[in-house]
Formats: sequence, structure tokens, C-alpha cells
Amino acid sequence: MEFEKELEKELSEAKQAGMLRKVNAISSAPAREITISGKSYLNFSSNNYLGLSFHPEVKKAAKEAIEKYGTGGTSSRLVAGTLDMHGELEEKLAKMKNTEAALVFPSGFQTNLGILSALFGEGDCIIMDRLNHASLWDAAKLSHARVFVYQHKDMNGLEKVLIRSRDYKRRLIVTDSVFSMDGDTAPLEEIIELSKEFEAVLMIDEAHATGVLGDGGRGLPELLGIEGQVDIVMGTLSKALGSQGGFVCASKAVCNYLINKCRSFIYTTALSPASTAAAIKAIDISNKEPARRNTLKKLSETFRKKLSKIGVETSGSSTQIIPAVTKDIGRTLELSQVFIEEGVFVPPIRPPTVPEGSARLRFSLTSEHTEQDLDKAVKIMKDNLI
Ligand SMILES: *Cc1c(COP(=O)(O)O)cnc(C)c1O
Repeated sequence: MEFEKELEKELSEAKQAGMLRKVNAISSAPAREITISGKSYLNFSSNNYLGLSFHPEVKKAAKEAIEKYGTGGTSSRLVAGTLDMHGELEEKLAKMKNTEAALVFPSGFQTNLGILSALFGEGDCIIMDRLNHASLWDAAKLSHARVFVYQHKDMNGLEKVLIRSRDYKRRLIVTDSVFSMDGDTAPLEEIIELSKEFEAVLMIDEAHATGVLGDGGRGLPELLGIEGQVDIVMGTLSKALGSQGGFVCASKAVCNYLINKCRSFIYTTALSPASTAAAIKAIDISNKEPARRNTLKKLSETFRKKLSKIGVETSGSSTQIIPAVTKDIGRTLELSQVFIEEGVFVPPIRPPTVPEGSARLRFSLTSEHTEQDLDKAVKIMKDNLI
């Protein structure tokens, strides 16, 4: 068919440009080591930052939930899908993020789609950091609000947009708190100040901060000592918490409004019992075992230092996400292949996921890694730098 031919042509062009994407099937737990096609690799690609997805207690909680409630979410939260456990999880999340209430969704991506499209629309505007996550860009588009962009972390730029956009009815500033491809953090104190001065609603995406930043793992506001000042905090259960699903923490007014108006909450099946129970247990462990977080922090600092010593640019990273910016796409793919041959799995990240000319290998560290693992990666990097 003509339609398929067009698609195939586009894919073959992408392949020529080194842009073809494909999936790798992993036949092991996504742990420090993974198995792909029967071969074992040291894994630097997982968002399982605290190793909680295979923690014995988390697995046990998920199994018990399956025994009690079965495997599926079975219906919408608003119909008969809300379990007592969902309320328990939402209470824990609201407490973690210092808000009145919380709501959980089956994924973080759809949480963002739902929040922005329910709360903002024509006549409103959404103001975004240029490097915000793809789900926020799609969410902004879906909302039909006017979208304004400021350069990455550029507070003068944000202020200018706020001055220019005074005539919009509702204004939202939304930013990742930890940027997913760079591992740097948003200048949240300044953003809070500007949001107050210009009476804009403020939302942060804590997908990579939850469980990781701050002594209690409560996220960037905890790290900066400014908790409870952001109107809408979203995050995912699927990264450091090792489960699956997304959440929003906000006032009762916002959460009740979302229950009534948010299409990606209303017209979807509830978060599954196993995921809900796993997330509850993961939050408990995250609270009880700060050592995991401290190990991760130490490893990240060490790795950044080692990379910088051999002249590798890490794009302002200050977290467990550490990009080795290699710029050129071909070079990045080559280097990624060298790592594979050496038994190390680290994903190459190319445009359009990152801006043109900033292709990179993206290292995700977890508390499960060792110093030797880092040395191995640094050595491969060093031996293959031009
Ligand atoms: C992963 C991610 C999401 C989406 O969360 P899922 O639960 O995986 O759908 C949203 N925002 C950011 C910044 C992310 O990194």
C-alpha cells in the first residue's frame, strides 16, 4: 500500500541519518546488570534509581496485592476502580510533596496530558522551559492554551514572557525540576518568586527528583529548603519508586476539579493493584532507608568528577542523570557501540530528544552501582575520546 511505502521511505531516510530507533528486549530484571540477547551488560540506562523495582519487600507487597485484589485495575476510578489502597497511596504522596491532596494516574505521561488540558485552555497561556519533557509539550498542545517558551533556565527570559503575557486569563509556569536529558535542576527559588510576583500558577515535574533529591527524597523543593510553595507537583511512580503510574499533588480544589474534569483520569482504567501496593511500599522504604539516596549522590558526584577530569562535558548535571555530551550523532552512535562491545549498556540520545548538535550518551546511575562500575565506564570513555 502507498501509505506503508511512504512510512518505509521515511524510516530508511532516518536510518541513513543515524536516526533510526529500535527497541532492545531485555531478558532479566532491569538491575545493575542486564541480559540482552543472551549477553550480560553493565547497565547505565535504568531510571530505577534506588533499585526499588526488585526490592524484596516491594515485590512482596505487589504479590500480596495481586492475591487480594487480582491483577487488573478493572474499571475507571470514578466507576468502581478506586481501591482503599489508592487513597492510602494518595495520602502518602500528598504528605511527601506537602500538599492538601493527591491523585494517582496509570502513567506520568497521561498525568501531564490530563492536568494541563483540564486546567488550562483558550485564553490562557502556558510558559515552558525549552528543555521540558515531551509529555509537557504534548500536554500544552492538547490544552489549546497559547504556549510561550523561555531558554533553558533563563530567568530574564521567563520574566520577559511574564511581562508580555499579562493579558492572558490564567497563566501557568511549568518546568521539569530535574531535566531528564541533562540532569541539571531548575532555578526553583527564582521561579517561585516570579510566579508570585506575576500571579502565575506554578507546576513542577518531579519525575526524576522524587525519591532522589533531598535528605528525605521528597524532591527539589526539599533539597532547596522551600517545601510547600509550588501549586501543582507532578511525578511518576515508575522511576525511583520502582512501580508504574503517575501522580499529581496539589490543593483539594485542584484535585477535586481534576476528578471532575480531567479526561485522562476519568476515561482510563485505575492504576493496577500491584503497582499501587508497590508504590506504597517503595515510599515507605525510601523514607526508611536514606542510605540508598546517599550512596547514589556520592556515586554521581564521583562520576561527574571523573568525567570532567578526562575532559568530558556533563551539561550542568548535578544529579544521578549524567550526560556525556559528544555532540555529533555519528560519533555518539559509534561510541555507544564501543560501550556495547565492552559489555556496557548506555543509551545514545539524539535529536529531536535533545537539541541539534548536543547528542550524548546518557548515564543513569543507581544506588546499585559500584565505584568499579564507574571506573569501567570512564576508562572506556577515555580510551575512545578523539
Ligand atoms: C518519565 C517522565 C514522565 C512520564 O512518566 P511515565 O510514568 O514514565 O509515563 C514525565 N515527565 C518526565 C520529566 C519524565 O522523565
